Amino acid sequence: MGLRTPEEYRESLRDGRRVMFRGEWVEDVTRHPVLGHAVDHAAIDYAIAEDPRYRDLCTAEQDGEAVSRFYKLPKTADDLLLRMRAIEAATTEGRTVVTLIHEIGTDALFALLRVAHACDAARGTSYLPRVRALYARASKEDWALAVAQTDTKGDRGKSPADQPDPDQYVRIVARREDGIVVRGVKVHTSVSVNANALIVLPTRAMRPGEEDYAVSFWLPIDTEGLRLVASPYLSSPRSDVEHPLSAGHKMVETFTWFDDVFVPWEQVFQAGEVEFAGPLALGFVDFHRFTAVSYKLPLIDLLVGSASLIAQLNGIARAGHVRDKLARLAMYAATVRKLLEASALTGQLAEPGVFVPDTLTVNTAKYHFAHGFHEALRDVQDLAGGLLVTAPAWGDFRDETIGPALQKYLRAAEGSAEDRMRVLYMIADLTVSDLAGYHAVLAVHAEGSLEAEKLAASRHFDFRAAQALARRMAGIDG
Ligand SMILES: Cc1cc2nc3c(=O)[nH]c(=O)nc-3n(C[C@H](O)[C@H](O)[C@H](O)COP(=O)(O)OP(=O)(O)OC[C@H]3O[C@@H](n4cnc5c(N)ncnc54)[C@H](O)[C@@H]3O)c2cc1C
Repeated sequence: MGLRTPEEYRESLRDGRRVMFRGEWVEDVTRHPVLGHAVDHAAIDYAIAEDPRYRDLCTAEQDGEAVSRFYKLPKTADDLLLRMRAIEAATTEGRTVVTLIHEIGTDALFALLRVAHACDAARGTSYLPRVRALYARASKEDWALAVAQTDTKGDRGKSPADQPDPDQYVRIVARREDGIVVRGVKVHTSVSVNANALIVLPTRAMRPGEEDYAVSFWLPIDTEGLRLVASPYLSSPRSDVEHPLSAGHKMVETFTWFDDVFVPWEQVFQAGEVEFAGPLALGFVDFHRFTAVSYKLPLIDLLVGSASLIAQLNGIARAGHVRDKLARLAMYAATVRKLLEASALTGQLAEPGVFVPDTLTVNTAKYHFAHGFHEALRDVQDLAGGLLVTAPAWGDFRDETIGPALQKYLRAAEGSAEDRMRVLYMIADLTVSDLAGYHAVLAVHAEGSLEAEKLAASRHFDFRAAQALARRMAGIDG
């Protein structure tokens, strides 16, 4: 085994996992009317590996076996660029919604390899063989993985040990001969309801005295005491024509509760090594921001394409302000893509043999994407016009009396009224629907907030060299 079929993936999720949706325990996530869409969407990751259009890109060889491209350990810049193209392909098939079930988990595995290696060397621990064991098993069996990093965090101004409630960050509450017991909640955990296993990482740096919070491990999703409360966001009924992006595509996040969960030592990757909590948290985001920007590429390209298409259909393509907006959108798309490629090309091979994107460049790419996203949405909405929120329904076109009037009056410069409406429905799904709201919040928060990206970039920018230049130009050096 090395590559699963979509059906084998669905079957693997029928395991007695404890998932709540709108106050009810879910019997089988694959057959649930809402969560089932998330399963079908994620199954794209398995379908593309069989699809002749994508097979070469989305599969790879590792240790003599065929594996999903996402499990291929990056050793060169080219490996990262192929990973980027595979993520882009899966997200295009997912109509702007990332599949994530291979991408996020492998981001965590790459970071865990680095940090376990460093921790074992410094502390004499034996975490690296455990990380390698999970990596080998997950890639051989083509598992779907979720990653729980973000804690509830309580008072953001206080560190884990200073919180009035000690459970606001996931922590170790007991150490036993055979493993640890963990308590707490991680929030916003994407794809956990439809993954096979969950990797848990610390969300921030820890200091001495916070040993119980410096914790990382993995669990099968059906582990006793692990409870997932699924978000109902984006669960209203959708129409294929009026919601051509979101009708069949969604991701689900959970409130992920570790109700005193036992974790055997073989599944533990960090348990008290406070000086390695920060490197693990940040090591993960180096890879995860690379993944993030990779999956934004189809979204941004679609914004540019939508703006250009609707400008043409509306007959405004030659107007000066329209050309200005299209140029801005094109430069936004080009800058994000080229920054991402540059982050791969300027990356480095790190111990124990994993190629890491350049931290400054990948954070700049993610920040540039997130910072420009709302402005790009505004430009597309501007060019499309108010029908984005006032248009008649698709069914009205079929009415004998109203249909012909809609055909006559909703035509603009080019194409039929129905084609124009299809484009407007698509743009509405992209920019004003609840999928659009999801994308907007995802842009600002997922994979870290804007401030987190600024902080990471600032840490890696050479301010000393820049200041030395300023001193020299001012004639005050030496
Ligand atoms: C759709 C979606 C999917 C996600 N998927 C995952 C996932 O799969 N796994 C996972 O682990 N996480 C996931 N996340 C979580 C994501 O990484 C967080 O949302 C992000 O890190 C922000 O954290 P928060 O939501 O708790 O907001 P907060 O941290 O509360 O941020 C709100 C504001 O407070 C500011 N702030 C926070 N702390 C401080 C401070 N100490 N000082 C000053 N300002 C501060 C922030 O900069 C921001 O402006 C996902 C998020 C979203 C929206």
